[in-house]
Formats: sequence, structure tokens, C-alpha cells
Amino acid sequence: MTWLKTVYRYAPYRVRQLMANVEAVRRKQIRHGGEYHRYYKEMDIEKMLSENQQPIQFVRLNRLLAHSKKTIPYYQDVLSTESVHSMDELAKIPFLTKDVIREQGSRMVNPQPKEGVWKAWTGGTTGSSLFFHRDKQTMQYEYALYDRLYEFAAGGKRGKIARLSNVLIAAPEIGHPPYWFVIYPFQQLQCSIDHVDEKTYGDYLKAMLEYGVELGTGYGFSWYLLAESMLAHKNQKLSLRGIVTDSEGLTDTQRASVEEAFSCVMYQTYGTSEVGLIAVQCGEGHYHILDRCLVEVIDAEGNVLSEGEEGELAITDLLSLDAPYIRYRPGDRGIVRNSGCACGWKNAYIEELTGRVEDYLVTALGRKVQRIGRLTKDVKGIVAMQIVQDAPGKIHVRLIPKEDFQPEYMDQMRENCREFLGEMAITWEKVAELERAPSGKVKYLIRN
Ligand SMILES: [Zn+2]
Repeated sequence: MTWLKTVYRYAPYRVRQLMANVEAVRRKQIRHGGEYHRYYKEMDIEKMLSENQQPIQFVRLNRLLAHSKKTIPYYQDVLSTESVHSMDELAKIPFLTKDVIREQGSRMVNPQPKEGVWKAWTGGTTGSSLFFHRDKQTMQYEYALYDRLYEFAAGGKRGKIARLSNVLIAAPEIGHPPYWFVIYPFQQLQCSIDHVDEKTYGDYLKAMLEYGVELGTGYGFSWYLLAESMLAHKNQKLSLRGIVTDSEGLTDTQRASVEEAFSCVMYQTYGTSEVGLIAVQCGEGHYHILDRCLVEVIDAEGNVLSEGEEGELAITDLLSLDAPYIRYRPGDRGIVRNSGCACGWKNAYIEELTGRVEDYLVTALGRKVQRIGRLTKDVKGIVAMQIVQDAPGKIHVRLIPKEDFQPEYMDQMRENCREFLGEMAITWEKVAELERAPSGKVKYLIRN
């Protein structure tokens, strides 16, 4: 496939669009193959978003353990049991780390899978790349799940989509539209994230209006940049029925801007490349955990923490049988609650995603501090910011200012830093854009 990628990269716009459409036809066949239609028909998305399904999860967990013990070479070695009597016994099962996946390779999958396995690759947010496998059956389940989620967000049939993501459409230095093309099999206006700014936002809106877009998907941060420009110019001609983003990342305030600009509800999601979609955000800003997986919170020694305590997340994918992820540690941190969200959904939820395991700042005293989101809380006049640390006790902030930004607004940031980090030397500068990871995601923290 590498030569095809190279051709795509140097091809003219129309050829790229053609190639993307040919690929979409191929992918559509895979997505809608196998059990997709049964999954889609049987799936009750509202129940899944809002109710705990512990009895079903328990049955699924034991099915997963028995299947893993029987068919997966790695789990034949490390699993001492093929069933548990209660959910608490999950704590006896070993964790799965990225290092184990790297070492074990194809020993992590069933040599005779039912639907087959995909070999995939992820760059990771810190460049810690990983080859991993996914059970094709789980992927078909997930496509059904996304289709149902889009319908839920749109309040009915999903209609045409605008997707903002890192698919290459026009080279970053191109200064004129189109920054998008239509992918006909998916009824999708595929839009570049590299060209979204205050000068181009009007072109994007015009293209979305002309195509008849009703639902937004993709990268939340790019939707947010569009929204900020719309609000600053009082240009809100485009209303959507809903926006579902691929991953978390926007604060509640930023999400409110998107919802105001596009007059719709925005659902951020939490997931990983290896496991897929894990949780969907509600209006309260909490990520409700879908019944297809279990989420535990653990400390540095691997002990399971109580409800409400902050720690590292361990995910069990209950449906991926031929490429299991049991107590998998993707490197994210958070706080989990079993129920009681004010939104009315009754299931367990991640109250707050508190950052990546490797996301920490080093104080002047050499202490590592996590939960960087606390530092930017209540800082006014800013579209977004990125913290860069080159030495302990010092940070440099790159910020995209709003029109009403005043230098003294950064006093709030200094105060937050004093509270959580102690004395820190803080410098800052205004920038037009923030550095992104190869995946296209914005890096909120860069530690050199
Ligand atoms: Zn909720």
C-alpha cells in the first residue's frame, strides 16, 4: 500500500478525490460485511448510553476469559482461570500493556479467527508507535455503533456529514479553496484541518451549506476553531443537527462555544485506536461508559482504586474475542463514578479525563504534577493554549488570543500555577496556531 500512499500524496486534487472514493467503496464493503446488519438492527443506542448492563457484562466477561484461555497463545500462558465468580475477581487477572503487545505480536490473536483480524498501527500521542491487532467482528460492531450514535446525535436519520480530520486534501501551503472533497459512498464532505483559520472559515461554511451538511464529525479542536471564528464575526448561517467528535479534548467552555455557533449538541467521545469507542460525553461533561467495555482505575502499583479516586485507566473490551484487550492500559488517566450523573443517564461514567500518563510538569522542587487542565482553568480571552516545559520550575505558554485578550488575564494562569505547582517561572507568547502531533491532534503539553 505504501506506493499507493505516495501516488496519493503527489496526485492532483481530482485524482486524490477519485482515489479516496475508490478506497471508500472498498471500506464500505468491509464495514458492512459479516454481522454488521444484525448488530445495527439489534442495537439500542439509548439504552447503551444510559443504563448499566452488569448482568450482560458479567456473561460477556466470562465468555471473553474462556475464549482467551482456549484460543489465544499469550493468554494460554498467563491466565490461571477461565472464569470469575464476580466482577471483583477481575483484579486477579494480569494487566495488558503496550510492551506486552509489542513483545507478543501475533501471540495476542487467535490463529483461527472467526471473521479475521486486522493488523493496525498507531503513532500514539508521544510517538510511542505500536502495531496491534483488531478483531474484524468488533470493528463491524463498532461501525454499527457509530451509525447508531450519529442517528442519536442527529435525532433521526443522519443525513450528510462534514468530517474534519487529517486526511490529506490540499497541501498545507495551498491558500485557496477547495480544502475539501465529497466522499460519495459515505455522503461525506471530507474537510482538511490544515486550513481552518479566521480567513478561511467562511469558505468552509459555504461549502458545508452548499453540500447540505446536517451532522459534523471528526476532530473537536477544528470544529472549535470554526466556531470561534463564527462567533467573533457573528456569522452563524450554518446550523447542524449534531456534532460527534472522534476524541475528547475540548473543555466545557470550548464545547459550549461550538454548541452556540452551530446551534446543536456536541458529543465528544473517548476511545483508543486499539479498543475503539469506549465512552460518550453527556451534557454535564461526563463520559458515559458503553456496556461493550469495563473501565477500572488503578494506582501506580496496579491496585484497583475506589470510586471517585484519580488514577490510570484499565480497559477491558468485552466483545473483542479473537484479539483480546483485557485490563488494557492505554496510558490515560481519569476519575470514574458508578452512577448518579445529573444528566439523567444512569450508568457508570468517567467524571473527568485527567490526561495522559506521560503528561506531567516538573516543579522547581523536582516534583511531577499531573492534571494539567487545572492550570488553564478560568483564564479568559484565550482560544486555546499549549504549555511547553524545557526545564524544571519553568514553563512557556503559547496562546491563541481572542480579540478581547488582555495581558493581565494571564494572572489567573499564574495564580493556578502557584496553587498546583508552587513557584514557577512563566513566560508566554501569542501564536497563530498550536503545534500538533502527527495524528493531527493538538498537543496541550510539550515536555522537552
Ligand atoms: Zn451524564
